[in-house]
Amino acid sequence: MNILCFGSLNLDKVYRVHHFVQPGETVSGLSLEEHCGGKGLNQSVAMAKAGGRVWHAGCVGRSDGQPLLQTLENSGVDISLVRRLDHPTGHAIIQVEESGQNCILLYGGANQQITTEQIDETLAQFQAGDLLVLQNEINNLPYLMEAASRKGLTIVLNPSPMDASILALPLEHVSYFLLNEVEARELCGEDRAVEEYPQLLLERFPHSRIVLTLGAKGCIYQDACHRVEQPACKVKAVDTTAAGDTFTGYFLAAVAQDTPIEEALKTATKAAAISVSRHGASPSIPTKAEVEAFSPDSQEN
Ligand code: ADP
Repeated sequence: MNILCFGSLNLDKVYRVHHFVQPGETVSGLSLEEHCGGKGLNQSVAMAKAGGRVWHAGCVGRSDGQPLLQTLENSGVDISLVRRLDHPTGHAIIQVEESGQNCILLYGGANQQITTEQIDETLAQFQAGDLLVLQNEINNLPYLMEAASRKGLTIVLNPSPMDASILALPLEHVSYFLLNEVEARELCGEDRAVEEYPQLLLERFPHSRIVLTLGAKGCIYQDACHRVEQPACKVKAVDTTAAGDTFTGYFLAAVAQDTPIEEALKTATKAAAISVSRHGASPSIPTKAEVEAFSPDSQEN
């Protein structure tokens, strides 16, 4: 089946600073690095690297969005459904102090300019059974979910970043929830032992499948018929930034190829382990060949 990721495209501008800017103050940045990001972009890149047939839909600025389009294309993602607008590309201004602490100003920009007309035109390219992958970084999600559900698309939701707007979405249409511990707790609205969340979520959304990721502890999958607990691979973690997105991308690409769940979880776990052993977000997402060659006992440096 084909995969449509309708999601965010962000330029991350990372400034190294002696200390964070205080009210009324001007500080000089010591260095600047620009990275392509956004949860939508990261997950599209991961799904395409994993061998999925992936279309990304969303919006970027005409004048500053090219690096994001290039990154998607280089990974094998179809970008014909990304619109170029006279609006700034979504971006994050990230200050990183010498201690490693950061603070982030996020501007949704073009990611918040998705129209219902773009949604209708995009969905017209897909069929019942295709996967629609969503995160919480674009506008008009309720309309998108209702329209996709009417068409019979299989909706996957990664409720990240988690906020109150998630609870107002038509969550009954979601077939797969992929979420971490913090997101699961907020979605359940209850403080429970982490292993209980998949069952609790399933009671609320009985037709869904839950994939709960637990960082270095691995993940739990649960649906109406069975539950699988998959430990993480032991690696030296240096940067966990895109772990969840890598896991999500590899898991969903496998699901789209009708891979059995146990195998899909194992592959996603290996891919995520490689990504945490490397620096960066989308550049840390491994290729399929790297994942196949990875042995869980090996340590990447
Ligand atoms: P998120 O980044 O969305 O919070 P998690 O931290 O739960 O997601 O990580 C997603 C997956 O990445 C985990 O289920 C696990 O497979 C892998 N992972 C995360 N951290 C580590 C780690 N320190 N060592 C090995 N694998 C990890």
